[in-house]
Amino acid sequence: DLIESVYSNIEETDDEVGAFITLNKEEALNAAKKVDEKGVEEGNVLSGLPIGIKDNISTKGVKTTAASKMLENFIPIYDATVVEKLNQAGMISVGKLNMDEFAMGGSTENSAMKITRNPWDLTRVPGGSSGGSAAAVAAGQIPVSLGSDTGGSIRQPASFTGLVGMKPTYGRVSRYGLIAFGSSLDQIGPFTRTVKDNALVLNAISGTDDKDSTSYRGNTPDFTENIDEGVKGLRIGVPKEYFNEDGKETTIEKSVREALDAYKEMGAEIVEVSLPHSKYGIPAYYIIASSEASSNLQRFDGIRYGYRSNNIGSLEDIYVKSRSEGFGLEVKRRIMLGTFSLSSGFYDAHFKKAAQARTLIRQDFAKAFEEVDVLVAPTTTSTAFKIGGKIEDPIAMYMADVLTVPVNLAGVPSLSMPCGFFEGLPIGMQIIGKQFDEQTIYKAAYAYE
Ligand code: GLN
Repeated sequence: DLIESVYSNIEETDDEVGAFITLNKEEALNAAKKVDEKGVEEGNVLSGLPIGIKDNISTKGVKTTAASKMLENFIPIYDATVVEKLNQAGMISVGKLNMDEFAMGGSTENSAMKITRNPWDLTRVPGGSSGGSAAAVAAGQIPVSLGSDTGGSIRQPASFTGLVGMKPTYGRVSRYGLIAFGSSLDQIGPFTRTVKDNALVLNAISGTDDKDSTSYRGNTPDFTENIDEGVKGLRIGVPKEYFNEDGKETTIEKSVREALDAYKEMGAEIVEVSLPHSKYGIPAYYIIASSEASSNLQRFDGIRYGYRSNNIGSLEDIYVKSRSEGFGLEVKRRIMLGTFSLSSGFYDAHFKKAAQARTLIRQDFAKAFEEVDVLVAPTTTSTAFKIGGKIEDPIAMYMADVLTVPVNLAGVPSLSMPCGFFEGLPIGMQIIGKQFDEQTIYKAAYAYE
């Protein structure tokens, strides 16, 4: 009955919101029946709960498009490891969520399927690239969804829609079955309304996976354990470069400062720290992510996967025309940027430099974490912008990721949570942790929720 009512709610609201690309009602009702028959195991609070999945995460027998014409009709023959794990936990996947094509973008306007609207204001974007995942939870269609975050795609939409979104430590969650964008940056993580729910879902999807050679071989703790311990004695770093240094405070910064005051009152120690190389985050990220993407997307050749042009004279036509017609504008831009950065003669000046900048950024975080337990900063420099507001200006869209990409380059975990409002729109703050120390992030987030 719960799953039936989820679908009637989605049917009522999704014309307006546009969060879903595919609904898999039949499969979901079957899965729900199985959960009913088996009965809920004691202590398994996730059993029977509906969840939505970003459409770049493979679901066996259910269309997985990455919001690209290239994969419009692609039906995977296996589940991503995270989907397998959700099934084991008894969660019911109800459908696949809209996104920027191949997760490239920050507004979900790069989807080849449709646009998604922000439930707080339907004239605004929900953020991206996991915009459908954010909008569906914010609209109350589902309580939980999964997204992916390569340079901010969980945290930025969470901040635009007033949700809790976690980008786990690189390696914490298996990437097996996630359609690869920037393989050294990509992580899957949950969107929820509350911090505790988020920790519960991360419990379910984390763990070592032999099918992902970069998955972490260490232990997976219970992320809800000690979540209510409070922040007394916690050392919170404030990276000064993540705030305007000209003395003018934005409303977003004021909201984050209020949170810091509250933490201080609860017994935390607030320390100013410096992440001086984060200013190279945007150029380094867009070179590295695009380079990896240009390699990862080579498999879409019109033969092995997805779309093939009808209009073919030669073998070369299959590749050229299928890719020209199957990929959208932003994806092509990234492939060109990445191929150029990796090409001989330009590699040293571009890819190599970006990799060096990445090392400096990573070292900044390591140094800061010698002094503090977590870092707190705004997630974004603005609240949700208007549909159409940035899509014609790719550089402006890229620049908007300035506060989220350094975290991915460093591989550290970061959670975005709501911390206020500006003109009726939610503001997000991120809590960044040490590698594999999501527990402390959740503890800090829970204390301020
Ligand atoms: N907005 C960033 C980009 O376009 C991040 C995307 C992501 O995290 N998937 O690359």
